[in-house]
Amino acid sequence: MRLGVLGAGQLGRMLALAGLPLGMEFVFLDPQDRPCAAAVGRHLKAAYHDEAALAQLARAADRVTYEFENVPASAVEYLARHLPVYPPPRALCVCQDRVEEKTFLRGTGVPTAEFAPADTRAGLEEAVERVGLPAVVKTRRMGYDGKGQRLVERREDLSGVWEALGGVPVVAEAFVPFRRELSVIAVRGLRGETVCYPVVQNHHEDGILRLSLAPAPELPPGLAAQAQAYARQALEALGYVGVLCLELFEVEGGLLANEMAPRVHNSGHWTVEGAQTSQFANHVRAVGGLPLGDPSPRGCCALVNLIGERPDPASVLRIPGAYWHWYGKEPRPGRKVGHVTVCAPSWESLAERLEALEGCGLRVCGLRALAGRAVGR
Ligand code: AMP
Repeated sequence: MRLGVLGAGQLGRMLALAGLPLGMEFVFLDPQDRPCAAAVGRHLKAAYHDEAALAQLARAADRVTYEFENVPASAVEYLARHLPVYPPPRALCVCQDRVEEKTFLRGTGVPTAEFAPADTRAGLEEAVERVGLPAVVKTRRMGYDGKGQRLVERREDLSGVWEALGGVPVVAEAFVPFRRELSVIAVRGLRGETVCYPVVQNHHEDGILRLSLAPAPELPPGLAAQAQAYARQALEALGYVGVLCLELFEVEGGLLANEMAPRVHNSGHWTVEGAQTSQFANHVRAVGGLPLGDPSPRGCCALVNLIGERPDPASVLRIPGAYWHWYGKEPRPGRKVGHVTVCAPSWESLAERLEALEGCGLRVCGLRALAGRAVGR
């Protein structure tokens, strides 16, 4: 099977690394010069809205998927007229607009923070009036890695925030005093079967995912089951095919959904070594109509993103259970250039291995403390 992928970044690259052993071939459409997935498939260099390039992709592939959610919906709709596109274009449209997304989630019975949309400066006043202060104001579209959002604590800051976000349609959300951030990855196959990975705990720095711990330590089984049920509700409501990530806040008394990603997700990178079947393998299996694989974890796992930095790979690889992933990108501040996964048979040994990782110059203190706390250290 020839799989077309919109986007050729590290997610596309890891999809191909999972699909090649299944006999799949990959063709990527991406406007960048030498995107990192070009190493593992054919690269069509063109803008996403370039119809000639989309037609070429449609001829070169049997099915199409996408590796990030900010591809133009029109490109996906164009392709869907020529060949199967998974996840379905509706999922992409819903996830591209924070108001649509929260409205959809609530409609399927998944709770979210209070929110109110605003298209004008005056509308923002009213929206914040409705959700209360403090509030988080986010652009409705094109936000990622914490970009396009501001915390508002005082009414007098609203003008500055409206300007700073570019005067575009926004959504005001009630600030959630969460205990921790969680995410859950669920997969739905072509015949409607679903599997769910364990819930993971995430830590962001400057809006960028820095660390994940899998499975989330000390998560009450009821909450884990609830998170997985929410993800499944979203999959069913969208008639979804492929991997979906649901990001959640753990709050007093339960869970609130923050957002969804209609694609493989950074908080699932640990599954490559840490689960029986990786999120990438399960995504290409789903899209390819193959049976889904077992999502069970093999033990305790930590994911540490390399953001603009490149520690010495040899020192990392000396740590038992540590795996090095380099995306072949130039390090720049704030840019994800790779990740390290650390697997261990127990939280105790994971805490020790993370301590060793810190010795390589990687800051993992929050994670080490958590892994340690999970065993009462
Ligand atoms: P997002 O782009 O929506 O994923 O937001 C990026 C990060 O900002 C989240 O991972 C949270 O750490 C924080 N955040 C977003 N929305 C809220 C909220 N309503 N209340 C508190 N923190 C938030």
